[in-house]
Amino acid sequence: MPMSPAFDQRLAPILPEIAAHFGTPFHLYDEIGIRDTGAALKAAFAEIEGFREYFAVKALPNPAILSIMRDLDFGFDCSSIPELILSRGVGAQADDIMFTSNNTSAAEFAAAFDQGGCILNLDSIGLLDNLPAAPELICFRYNPGARRTGNAIMGNPIEAKFGITHEQLLPAYQRAQALGVQRFGLHTMIISNERNYAYLVQTAAMLLELIESLSAALGVRFEFINIGGGFGLPYRPEDQPLDLAALSTEITALFAAFRRKHEYAPRLYMESGRYMTGGHGVLVTRAINRKETYRTYIGVDASMSALMRPGMYGAYHHVHVHGKDGEPTETVDVVGSLCENNDKFAVQRDLPRVEPGDLLVIHDTGAHGHAMGFNYNGRLRPQELLLCADGSIKRIRRAETVDDYFATLNFPADSMRL
Ligand SMILES: *Cc1c(COP(=O)(O)O)cnc(C)c1O
Repeated sequence: MPMSPAFDQRLAPILPEIAAHFGTPFHLYDEIGIRDTGAALKAAFAEIEGFREYFAVKALPNPAILSIMRDLDFGFDCSSIPELILSRGVGAQADDIMFTSNNTSAAEFAAAFDQGGCILNLDSIGLLDNLPAAPELICFRYNPGARRTGNAIMGNPIEAKFGITHEQLLPAYQRAQALGVQRFGLHTMIISNERNYAYLVQTAAMLLELIESLSAALGVRFEFINIGGGFGLPYRPEDQPLDLAALSTEITALFAAFRRKHEYAPRLYMESGRYMTGGHGVLVTRAINRKETYRTYIGVDASMSALMRPGMYGAYHHVHVHGKDGEPTETVDVVGSLCENNDKFAVQRDLPRVEPGDLLVIHDTGAHGHAMGFNYNGRLRPQELLLCADGSIKRIRRAETVDDYFATLNFPADSMRL
């Protein structure tokens, strides 16, 4: 189930007018869909006291989207200074920001501590030495090592650059304690785009077991566990969606059991990016060329610089041709204009016959889509539009211009000779 039928029904009747007014290509996001998913997530975990989603800003770093997240009372998961600035720009305070970084520089820590701070999630023990001051609260990112996650995007945790090992956990918290830290959390992120809820339950169970033994050894209570992001989407029509009801029922039961045993339970945090916005965005692009060589190629006015998941991971994104549902199909590759053969949105896909001028809708681009864009080959990132809850359409980011491309070539002269 790619793009939801409701989103399609909202968009289809007005798509040609949107394309005529704003021009193509564009990513367009569905405010109602995002709000509905956020409400469903909150409802699913409502029985866990202190449940909170910290939206992974990197998935869709646009202030208009972050404002919707803030409205839902979500926090923000950040890992760079611009992401901190974006989050604070929509009003996020210290407790609303989880700063999950990897190889964080002193300048980034200084920015994280500035303006009221944030929840620090540290990726290595050594980073404690880079802190400008001891924070009140520290969280470490755990990497469980050999453990099935079976997932190409995250890979095998043993080979992953993230987190600290099982043996390092206790010494890490002891050092933080010695620095005067008094509040603690535990984080992991070992799964990406996972639709099997059982793995996500296992993650929560693993963290609850860990804080049980760490609490006993340290003589402290953990305020929260953070199970990271990684909730999967059904990108292919035949994919089963994540069973959110089963997931929340089982995790809620784990928390209830923990509470019975220890007379308290930590809060549950998560940092979904993809799950919140992925299915609520599309990339709309116009066909500009048909070419019959060894294959039939449909050339469009967007390229992988606007959506690199297919080129980078071989990811499937569903595509439909506006207004041609049900017409006889042919097998085509849908391609952009980059001098790079990976620049394909769809490979050997059955689509209704596309003529130049047709609008193609590439589904599920609401997370890690525009945000992963780049400028290779002098390609400029497209605009972003929001289909608002009141039916209006708003530009929420303009397309890049040639001046933007040249902006970094405009600088004070500097050189040296040794
Ligand atoms: C990327 C990332 C996320 C979000 O992942 P999704 O797959 O989009 O849910 C959450 N937490 C951290 C630390 C990340 O790096």
